[in-house]
This record gives sequence, C-alpha cells and structure tokens, in this order.
Amino acid sequence: MSIFNKHLPAIHVEHHKNTTDSATVKMPVPDKVYLSMVQHIGAPCQPTVAVGDLVKVGQVIGDTDAFVSAPIHSSVSGKVTAIDKSLTMTGIWDTIVTIAADKTQEVAEGIKPPVVEDKASFLKAVRDSGLVGLGGAAFPTHVKFNPKNLEEVDTFIINGAECEPYITADYRTMMEDSELLINGLKNTLKYLGIKRGVIGIESNKAPAIAKLREMVKDDPEIEVLELVPVYPQGAERVLIYEATGRSIPPGKLPADIGVIVSNVSSIVALQTFIETGMPLISKKITVDGNAIRTPKNVEVLIGTPIYKLINFCDGYKRVPKKILMGGPMMGRAIYDDGMAVIKNNNAILAFDEEFATVPKETACINCGRCTKACPMMLMPTLIAKAYECKDLPALEKLHATLCMECGCCTYVCPAKKQLGFINKMAKQFIMEGGKK
Ligand code: SF4
Ligand code: SF4
Repeated sequence: MSIFNKHLPAIHVEHHKNTTDSATVKMPVPDKVYLSMVQHIGAPCQPTVAVGDLVKVGQVIGDTDAFVSAPIHSSVSGKVTAIDKSLTMTGIWDTIVTIAADKTQEVAEGIKPPVVEDKASFLKAVRDSGLVGLGGAAFPTHVKFNPKNLEEVDTFIINGAECEPYITADYRTMMEDSELLINGLKNTLKYLGIKRGVIGIESNKAPAIAKLREMVKDDPEIEVLELVPVYPQGAERVLIYEATGRSIPPGKLPADIGVIVSNVSSIVALQTFIETGMPLISKKITVDGNAIRTPKNVEVLIGTPIYKLINFCDGYKRVPKKILMGGPMMGRAIYDDGMAVIKNNNAILAFDEEFATVPKETACINCGRCTKACPMMLMPTLIAKAYECKDLPALEKLHATLCMECGCCTYVCPAKKQLGFINKMAKQFIMEGGKK
C-alpha cells in the first residue's frame, strides 16, 4: 500500500472487469485500415505517401518536423487507396490515409532493432517507434522523456492502476508481456539516468503484483507498489502523490517535481521496438459493455474500423445507444462505429439505451458530496454556477482549469448533476479567454 497515511479524495466505483481472465486474442488483418494523421497531442502529421503507393508493415506513412509530434506507421502491407478529410470524435478535421490490405503483411525494409547506446539514441528510438501516451492523453513519449530538467528527475512511475471500470487491457499486458515491461523499464531508467522505478498497481490485480514482484526481486531500484483500488487512482497526479508524496503545483508538470509517468502499454511498445524495430502498429483493447455479445481483450491493428472490431467480438447483442472510446468515467463517446482504432485507444465499450440514458437532474441539495469527492480539491458546484453566469474571473479564482475531468463529482451527486461535463465546458470557456 501507499507509504502515506493520507490519500487524496477518491471514490469507489463498480468495476465490471468482465474480461480480467480473458487472454488477449489477435484479430485478423482487416480489408482496409484508416490511419488518422492526428493521433497525438501536438502538430498533426502530414501524409508521406500518395494515393496508389504500395506500402509495407511498419513503414512511415505520416510525419512532421514539429517537435511535439510522433510519426504514423502503416499497420498493414497493401495499397494507399485514398487520402481524405474526416471529422474526429473531438470535432476537428483530420486527414485519413486509407490502405487496402493485401493480407501478406510484408514487413518494410529497414525494420530492425535500433542501435541504442546512450540517451540520444534512446530518445531517437522512442520517437522512431511512433510512441505516444497510450493510457489516454497521447502526448508524444519522446517529448515527455526529455524534459529540460531530466537530471533532476529521480523517479519513473509505470501506471498499472487501470482504475476505470470494464477495462482490463493493461492488466492483460502486465500478465502477458511482463518481460517486455520489466526490460523496457530497466532500459528507460538506464538511458534516462533515473534512479528509482515504481510500478503502481491496484490491490485488486494481485496476480500482476505477485508476478512483477517476483521478476524484480533482485532489482532494488524497482518497486512494485500496491495501491488502494479506488477511482481515479490511475490519474497522473493521484498516482504521483501515492508513489512519492509529492503534489504537482498548478501549471507545472510531473518532471518539475522530479517524476515521469508512463503507461504499461507504452513501455511494452517501446521495448518491442528496441528488440525488433517494429514500431507501434497494434494495440491491446478491451471490448465490453452490455451491448457487446462476447466481451474480449483483442490485439488489433491501428486503423481497424471499430465495427470490424465489434464484429470480431460477435457483434452487438442489443442496439447500442452509446459507444465509448475508453472507460465509462473518462472515455469519449463516438458518433459512428465506422471510426477507426487510434494509438491511445484502450477500450471500446458499447451500452444499450437503458444503461446509457442520462438520468434526469433534480435540484442541488447542497450535500457537498461533489466537493468531498474531488481529487483536485475543487468546488464543482461553484465552478458550475460560475460557468452558468459566464463569470471568467470567478472561474479563474476557483482554479477550474485544474479539473482533470475524472467525473467523480458527477458520479457521487444524488441530484444527478452533470458537473464533470459542465466543468469541461468551463475549462474550454477559460481557454478561449471567456468568449461568450
Ligand atoms: S471532474 Fe473535475 S471537478 Fe469533478 S471531481 Fe474530477 S477533477 Fe474534480
Ligand atoms: S453533490 Fe450534487 S447535490 Fe450535492 S452539493 Fe454537489 S451538486 Fe449539489
């Protein structure tokens, strides 16, 4: 358990981890993949291929010179059949490269383990792997691993908390790819010159804790930290506090307090690249929800249409009302199951009408539960009121931008107020300088 007696506010959510014991199954190559050029925070990539080009597995098909970015690789061998614009789930226009798979999965020339011998070659390998934060934020990993004050970073944390209901893809990764995970962590510590490695896992994943502890029993620099199974234990700020007792001041980054955090799948993908030279072209994804006939953990090629992934899980058993990319607490609803799997996609959940209907709001009873539940110690009701009045100074005073959109306030509210969503809008309002 955490070495600290005090924990940040958190909530207990029903876990519904139906696929905990479902070993990952590999999905066959689809007929076509649709590769988005916006799969990370930062500058979008530009296609480096043209319609009619033949491509191979692992070939770069999108890149940019911008620093905050990561290249996009083809997940199939085949022919580029279209490059066109499409709306993403966040409502921005994106360029999509469509590739018709020839099903031979011929690997691109030049795919071989990179030469990694120091920090510079390691960071180059991280960028070349196409890695971004696979746990949700999609921040380019080579940027995260290279803060200005790297020499002051003393702790590298792997986030194995996986506190969102339903999702078990990281748990399966820890059980199935544990050697890649530990070797990836050791390489990261070595080449970044970081002294301490921590793998934070909730206590409800005891087999993963036991397995990884056994593997690092002779590595005093690595600790497998058992965490209390509460939500949002996997949120970066919460995890850092649990592992180090340090809090991130407003406007600062984890590296500013000597910490870098990475997701389980990111480290496994990085080590895969170091050992084989094959960049990030596939993902482990949990497919679940009460509208899915056979929930599974699936290894799927990036760019695969979501309806194909759902068909691989024997399709819908109920008419889906809501399909989420990610978990029910922080995931995003998608408007079309024809959208494709992207790098930071860790779950596809589909729910029927009964389950997905938003409950009717009633009047606030001033119970204060939302405030007590907020891990960021914010006052969600006051933020909501300030947003309703479009009161920018009040929102700033209430530090609304610190909201990490965890949804704890919404979850505990007996009046069913959509506080998390309102706070999200409030953040957007602040970012736009209070434009009405
Ligand atoms: S959504 Fe924001 S305001 Fe609500 S509990 Fe989470 S951090 Fe706090
Ligand atoms: S939890 Fe809901 S009812 Fe209670 S104070 Fe907050 S908004 Fe009001």
